This record gives sequence, structure tokens and C-alpha cells, in this order.
Amino acid sequence: MNCPNCNSENIKKNGSIHNGKQKYACKDCNRQFVLAPENCISQEKKDFIDKLLLEKLPLVGIARVVGVSERWLQNYVNKKYDNVPKVINVTKKG
Ligand SMILES: [Zn+2]
Repeated sequence: MNCPNCNSENIKKNGSIHNGKQKYACKDCNRQFVLAPENCISQEKKDFIDKLLLEKLPLVGIARVVGVSERWLQNYVNKKYDNVPKVINVTKKG
């Protein structure tokens, strides 16, 4: 868990907002924030993101359309392309 502003892990719980979500505050930059439930982004949403990626849209735009943070999306894309084999068009012989 990191501060969305300075990426520090030095954060503390800071009460909760009206809908019961946990609020946090960063001890380093004093930024207050509520963590988005990005650990449970649905597979449908990921499929949608995949489609948008194929359209070569900028990550900023995709993040805005889908409603995820740019940081999360960047991580997602990095992981995704780590898993993609470097050579895709291998033709099998025989
Ligand atoms: Zn911070």
C-alpha cells in the first residue's frame, strides 16, 4: 500500500468517510486519500482495458474511461507485456 502522491509506504489510517471507506493519510507528504478497491478490478474491466489497449489509446485516456488509476494501469500493462512471448508468429513445421 502506497501513497498515491509520493508513493511512500509510510501511511496511517485516518478515520473513515461517510460511506464507511477507510481513509488514510501519508506521514511523509500529509496527503489524505481513500484507497480505490483496485485489487478487485473485475475480469470484465480487464477485458475492456485489453480492447482499449489494442486501439493504441494513451494509458491516461484508458485510465480515465475505465476508472482506474494510471499507476494501476501502468502496472497492469507492465505485467501483461512481461507475459507476452517475444516471438508471436511462430509457425509450426510438420
Ligand atoms: Zn505521500
